[in-house]
Amino acid sequence: METKGHPAVELKKTTLTPKAIIHQKFGSKACFTVEEVKEPIHTECPGLIQQKGPCLYRCLLQLPELSVVSGTFRKKKDAEQSAAEMALEKLGIHPTASDLTPQEAWESLVARIAYLFSEKFLTSLHPLCGHLGATLWRKGDLCGSIPVSVIAVYDTKLFNLCKYINPAVESNPLLVNLYIMRAATKLSGFLSTSEQHLWLKKQSPYPQDISESLSIQAGMLECIQVAAAKIPSSTEKPIETVTLWISAKDYYLDIIAKELDLEDASYVLISRNVGKASSETRLFFAASRSFCLDQSSDLLNVKETLHFEGSLNARASYLSGQCIFGDAILASIGYTWKSKDLSYEDITVQSYYRMLISKTPSGIYKLSREAIFAAELPSSFTTKANWRGSLPRDILYMFCRQHRLLEPVFSPISCPLKGSSESSGSSLKDACSATEEIEHVRGALSTAGAKQSEVSGCTFKCDVKLFSKSEDLIIVCSPEGKFKKQNDALQNACLKILSWLNEYFKNSSAPFEILYHTADSFNIQIHSKNHCKEFAVCQSVRNTQLNMLGCMRPLCTGPAYGMRSLKIEGSDSGVCPCNGSIPCIRYSISLVVKGDNLKELIEACEEFEFEIGVGAVTTDVEGVVMQLCVGQSACFTTELPPSELILASAADSARTLSLLSSKPCFMEYAIALTKLTEPMEERMEQALFSPPLSKQRVEFAVHHIIESCAATLVDFGCGAGSLLEALLNYPTSLEKIVGVDISPKGLARAAKVLNSKLVTNSDVDDVPYAGIKSVILYEGSITSFDSRLHGFDIGTCLEVIEHMEEDQACLFGDVVLSSFRPRILIISTPNYEYNVVLQRSNPASQEQEEELDEKSSLPSCRFRNHDHKFEWTREQFSRWASDLAARHNYNVEFSGVGGTAGVEPGFASQIAVFIRKETMAEVDDELKDADLDHRFNVMWEWNRINK
Ligand code: SAH
Ligand code: MG
Repeated sequence: METKGHPAVELKKTTLTPKAIIHQKFGSKACFTVEEVKEPIHTECPGLIQQKGPCLYRCLLQLPELSVVSGTFRKKKDAEQSAAEMALEKLGIHPTASDLTPQEAWESLVARIAYLFSEKFLTSLHPLCGHLGATLWRKGDLCGSIPVSVIAVYDTKLFNLCKYINPAVESNPLLVNLYIMRAATKLSGFLSTSEQHLWLKKQSPYPQDISESLSIQAGMLECIQVAAAKIPSSTEKPIETVTLWISAKDYYLDIIAKELDLEDASYVLISRNVGKASSETRLFFAASRSFCLDQSSDLLNVKETLHFEGSLNARASYLSGQCIFGDAILASIGYTWKSKDLSYEDITVQSYYRMLISKTPSGIYKLSREAIFAAELPSSFTTKANWRGSLPRDILYMFCRQHRLLEPVFSPISCPLKGSSESSGSSLKDACSATEEIEHVRGALSTAGAKQSEVSGCTFKCDVKLFSKSEDLIIVCSPEGKFKKQNDALQNACLKILSWLNEYFKNSSAPFEILYHTADSFNIQIHSKNHCKEFAVCQSVRNTQLNMLGCMRPLCTGPAYGMRSLKIEGSDSGVCPCNGSIPCIRYSISLVVKGDNLKELIEACEEFEFEIGVGAVTTDVEGVVMQLCVGQSACFTTELPPSELILASAADSARTLSLLSSKPCFMEYAIALTKLTEPMEERMEQALFSPPLSKQRVEFAVHHIIESCAATLVDFGCGAGSLLEALLNYPTSLEKIVGVDISPKGLARAAKVLNSKLVTNSDVDDVPYAGIKSVILYEGSITSFDSRLHGFDIGTCLEVIEHMEEDQACLFGDVVLSSFRPRILIISTPNYEYNVVLQRSNPASQEQEEELDEKSSLPSCRFRNHDHKFEWTREQFSRWASDLAARHNYNVEFSGVGGTAGVEPGFASQIAVFIRKETMAEVDDELKDADLDHRFNVMWEWNRINK
């Protein structure tokens, strides 16, 4: 494949200063604070001149994930560079690292270890200084001896040097321990080592004053209690919380050793950092005796895993991405770059499960929304305005960090703007210059200057690539979707790659060929060799684990756990969600024990917003919310979801576990729909047109219906029945009106609305619709023919065809004019060329581009509505309609609403009115077809009872 833009290669060549690199990586998220220091203090920085006086500076650098404090310098600039350098080191980024030979690396390793035990080093804020101090409190021979595992994990420089000796340390970081031991033997006059133990000790003690101040700093004032999670190597045993009691003069690692039934800290191995980079969460586990003996073997040739006595700890290995053997303790405790004090945080069973689910894209998203049960990673990115929770790009960064991949590499591609289909885009230029059209837009909102909202001449796509730490290309994703904003294209690409990875993690037991096959539909190419290398260990470990958790379910369209006994309460306000709208719900989810009255609240949220139609919540939740009106609430129960989710959510893990193991349980959901934001197209149509565009379309149709003296009408794609309902308000010649739609939800709404109107007025005679004898709603696709609707006087099809794929819309055209053959047919659809006016007139376009992204409802997708499969220019629509009419012996006339005929860029909604050319044969047809196909299902029917 290609090698261009290979990230790490660029890094190595760089001559940027540490501060410049920090700026490149973090931009405004990096905060440098320089302060003046009165007392000069020692630092490890070689350039420092010791002097008395007030002019010394120290720099605090705060990054999203960590903060560091520099030593003191005479120049503010130097303090900043030093802080940046410390941060880079902490982050494992080494801008000046050049390629070393293994021999040079050995030498540097020895030198670095010597430095770590030097007096100069002790005055720095390096995490190892805290350890060195704390080990001075250890009793007897152990006093001052520091476990090798501590040195191996807390000094990234050592780790990086070891990579030159053997690149395998990347996947097997425990090797670093052995290399340190080996290097330390070269310092035999200076350091003591042991054949049997994993510790190092400086032979001559530090000068009294230094060792005193060190141990005072490391000593704690009082005893602390830290919660940690014990992960037994046997997956049969549950994760449990243990408490580490650390008294003022204990070295915390000795306490952890005791918890693992080990003599002291030198038998403890430490994993790399787990979870958030900002925390000191690591796994602690036993080093076997043979681990030490391995020192004698040929270290340069160690390729495979080290030999361990214990069995592989699947859960701990999966969490850390490195092989861990025997029981392990997950704890967040250690000395950091931030202060000399021991820092710690409680790790509970819940924290373990939260870390566990954050290994998958969907889990990261769930956590970012603090909605582990309700939220699901959406399957498509519509606009930033509609997105809730962490953005796809941030989730992808997090995922890469979790799985130790390089940061994702993006290649934005700009494409010249064209019409929605292949036809000429020439008319678009006219559209762009059509400022007159703004006059037709409601006054108050029409002030948007054309300057600010220059329509850019292109759309964007974006490719994303993932690389392993050893710079091998793993996955390339090149999604098709085009976006008006480069950033949206980037987010879309991230989401595509995340969605595939999510599927991959959910179906990890599926054969690779099948997974690779599904990649095609995500526009993803996988480099199978590299991919296997990165994920295989992780996968095999995960399989064991998931089987244990009993949660191997095929999850394709967002999980559903089998909804039961749904109850809906509250009155029907008529305001209900549809695709693209953003409901706000209040919910609570509890675990209930069957038969007993025991109930435990698992998750609750007062205000939870999500976009309908993109899979942003579980299928159960979306299904129920779609049935609610604002003000209504619902209650239902489901089967148990995977236990990892329950435990990640439950605050009281012990009680939850005891409930789960007592009797069969189920989940109980209570959801209330509190608010609703309508989809963009509707908001726009209402805000920019008076009366709203939808009302203008209905009025246009009503006008034609009255003029035509029609007795029978069919509304193709009637949706929630807005036209049918409106017709009941006008006196017309209509006797029979019929609606057809493919969506049962839309039809249910239509039935509700029509029913309440017709039934409430059942004994009133002077209603406007007195002439109407029958109203029927059919469920079915308008691309198929039903003979009951043959030869109606008038057919309407408002804003429907653009919701069908282009070929289906064409099929409908042929079916309706060849088989249904209404005398008159009215078809409306958006005019693509008008979109430019809609955007320009959007009130939000006066704001800055960036802000506009955040707050406005401006569509950054290409069409007015995410459900639109296409939007045609006037030329495309007229070509399609004219050809269609000619084929089926109709005349066609063009018109529209929202705008003025003949003024660029035409109407907002373009309308074609087809009129059948009468022939004698037509009448015969009508008779013949009388009892043919009945493809539609009657959903609802009303007939006037003659009094
Ligand atoms: N005509 C209505 C609804 C427009 S929304 C109005 O103007 O308010 C588009 C509607 O087309 C939706 O209700 C959708 O369910 C329906 N639709 C899409 N494809 C369809 C098909 N193949 N057959 C029938 N209805 C379809
Ligand atoms: Mg539409």
